[in-house]
Amino acid sequence: MAGLNGLVALVTGAASQRGIGRAIALELAKAGADVAVSDVGHRSLVANVEKGEWLGLSSVVDEITAFGRRAAAVVADVSIASETEAMVDETVRALGRVDVVVNNAAARQEPSVAGGWELSEDAWNQQLAVNLTGQFLVCKAVIPHFLRAGYGRIVNISSLAGRIPLPRRPAYTASKHGVIGLTRSLALDLAPHGITANTICPGVIDTDRAAAVETGQDESLSPGPVSFEELARSVVPMGRRGDPDDIGRVAAFLASPAAGYITGQAINIDGGWQMA
Ligand code: NAD
Repeated sequence: MAGLNGLVALVTGAASQRGIGRAIALELAKAGADVAVSDVGHRSLVANVEKGEWLGLSSVVDEITAFGRRAAAVVADVSIASETEAMVDETVRALGRVDVVVNNAAARQEPSVAGGWELSEDAWNQQLAVNLTGQFLVCKAVIPHFLRAGYGRIVNISSLAGRIPLPRRPAYTASKHGVIGLTRSLALDLAPHGITANTICPGVIDTDRAAAVETGQDESLSPGPVSFEELARSVVPMGRRGDPDDIGRVAAFLASPAAGYITGQAINIDGGWQMA
């Protein structure tokens, strides 16, 4: 797919090898955009399950430049306003402008509890700070650039957990429901300016984050390993997990001028699991 020539995109949470952020960054580059990739460090929080010679953000930069596009790596914690402002400034300094933002970063999964009310206040605050406030702060820093340029595309990554509740995961569920509300409110305010804001709600996607949970290497979740493949076989009409590229292709479309009359939408990418 072409259509992003001359545009600059910024993708958060993009350092992991088999992550949705990296897949989105590569689809944006394939479509013609120059791309700044960002994460909380040069390596992802799930770097412990990555394989081979993966170097996090610098490896994604190499992949983007291999498509003939320009790229930049920016380290920023999206839950800290001064860092999101510096991230956007650095994107503009390195790549000249910013036209598209994809808010993909999410905190490590909240600890498992027997009932949602048992979650600690700290764990609650951490999920909300990164998954929801982080998206707000990035939007706050980037929208003035969109308004000045007269073009802008916001793609916020929610989850099916933003449409239906997960048991024992109140903070993740609330943060991902909140992402849809944030996006829709911004979409209303930005519509008169021709700037769009949409949400993607992935279902069960085969990523390193999921692998970290399955193999028990994400110790924030217990009890023990779970198989997302089995889960997908039992609940997803297509009978399989999604691929990060499935998310990347839709994000690249929503970032394009061709999607200019789509705003305020929450789009499930889940093999038919939920149809509302
Ligand atoms: P991932 O862990 O690879 O991606 C999240 C990234 O965010 C990581 O690289 C992590 O280092 C980064 N991050 C964490 N805290 C941060 C902070 N404070 N500032 C900046 N970056 C930070 O996981 P993924 O599976 O690729 O998930 C990507 C997005 O898709 C997330 O928003 C997740 O909630 C959503 N999602 C994933 C699935 C799935 O099945 N994998 C399903 C639904 C929704």
